Amino acid sequence: MKILVTGGTGYIGSHTVVELQQNGYEVIIIDNLSNSYLSVVDNIEKITGIKPVFEQIDLRDETKTNEFFKKNQNIAGIIHFAALKSVGESVEKPLDYYQNNILSLINILKGQIEFKINNFVFSSSCTVYGQPDELPVTESAPIKKALSPYGHTKQISEEIIKNTSSNANINGILLRYFNPIGAHESVHIGELPIGTPNNLVPFITQTAIGKREMLKIFGSDYNTPDGTAIRDYIHVTDLAKAHVVAIGRLINKKNREKTEVFNLGTGNGFSVLDVIKSFEKISGLNLNYKFVDRRSGDIERVWADTTFANKELGWIAEKNLDKMMLSAWKWEQALEQVKRNK
Ligand code: NAD
Ligand code: UDP
Repeated sequence: MKILVTGGTGYIGSHTVVELQQNGYEVIIIDNLSNSYLSVVDNIEKITGIKPVFEQIDLRDETKTNEFFKKNQNIAGIIHFAALKSVGESVEKPLDYYQNNILSLINILKGQIEFKINNFVFSSSCTVYGQPDELPVTESAPIKKALSPYGHTKQISEEIIKNTSSNANINGILLRYFNPIGAHESVHIGELPIGTPNNLVPFITQTAIGKREMLKIFGSDYNTPDGTAIRDYIHVTDLAKAHVVAIGRLINKKNREKTEVFNLGTGNGFSVLDVIKSFEKISGLNLNYKFVDRRSGDIERVWADTTFANKELGWIAEKNLDKMMLSAWKWEQALEQVKRNK
C-alpha cells in the first residue's frame, strides 16, 4: 500500500517514513529540501533497507504538484508534514508562512479530490490551544486567538481540512503534537536544525557539545513550581508510530467522524529546569545556562490529556524524559563524530 509523505526528509517526517516502511507500507516522499537534506533518504535506507522514492517538488507549485499526482496513481493515503515551523520567523515573515503552509495544503487537497485519495493525516500543533484554561488540555478545549502567524496557519489549515472533508470523499485525522524531541535509536536520523536552534533540546545538546556557549532560559517568573515554563515533551519515534496507527485507521475505515482530532503527547508536563536536570543526569555534565527575560509569544504551561488518543488509537507514548534526553544526546554526539571524521 502506497503512502505519500510530504515533508518526509524533515525531522518528524523521516522518523515516520521509517515506521511506515517497517509496517509494510511503500512510501513516496515529496520535499523541496527547504529545511532538510537529500542525504536523509539514504539514511532512512540504512535503517530499513528500503530506499523510499523521493520527489523534489515545492508544494506551492500547483502545476508540479498536479503533475506528480498524474504520474503516481494508487496512493492510499497522504501524511502532510510539509510546512515552515519557526514561530519567531513567522512573526518576521508572515506572508511566507501563510503562502507556504496554506498554499501547499490547498494544492495537496486539490490533488486528493481530483485523484480520489480518501485518507489524509495532518501535522497540527498544540499551539492551536494557546494558553488553555484547563490542564491537561483535551481535544475539545476552545481554539484561542493564535499568538503567531505560524500558529494561525495551523488553525486555518485545520478549518480548511474540516471544510474540504465534509464536502468530498476525504477522511482526515488532525494530529496535534506537543513537543517532539530525541532521535532514532540508530542515530542515522534526528533533528537537524539549520543555523541556531530555536527549540530547547537541540540548544541544550549543542551547548553541551560546545557548539553554543550558553543556554538562555526564557523566563524564571512564570507561575509554575520552579518559575520556568512547562511543556509536554514526546519522543519523536513515539510520535511517528502514532502516524502509522492514524493512517491505518483511515484506510481500514475505523474512524468515527470525517475529521478526527487527537492530542499526541505523554500527558506529563516538565519545566525547562526539569529538562536540564534530566540532561545533566543522563550525560553526567553540568550545563552552562542563565536566566533571561521571557520569550515573546511563549505560553506558561501546557500538557496534553491523551486519554482520547490512548483509547481510540490504542497508542501510547512509551519513552520517559530521561530516555528522550539520552536519545537527543546520543544524536548530538553522533553528529559531532561525523563532523570529526570529515
Ligand atoms: P521540518 O522542517 O524538519 O520538516 C518539514 C519538511 O517540510 C522539511 O523537510 C521542509 O523542507 C519541507 N517543506 C516545507 N515547505 C515545503 C514545501 N512548500 N514543499 C515541499 N516541502 C516543504 O519540521 P518537523 O519538525 O519535522 O515538522 C513537521 C510538521 O510538524 C510541520 O507541519 C510542523 O509545523 C509540525 N509540528 C512540528 C512540531 C515540532 O516541534 N517539530 C510541533 C508541532 C507541529
Ligand atoms: N526555551 C528556553 N531556551 C531556549 C529555547 C526554549 O528557555 O533556548 C524554553 C521556551 O521558552 C519554552 C520551552 O523551552 O518554555 C520549549 O520551547 P521550544 O521552543 O522547544 O518549544 P515550544 O513549546 O515553544 O514550541
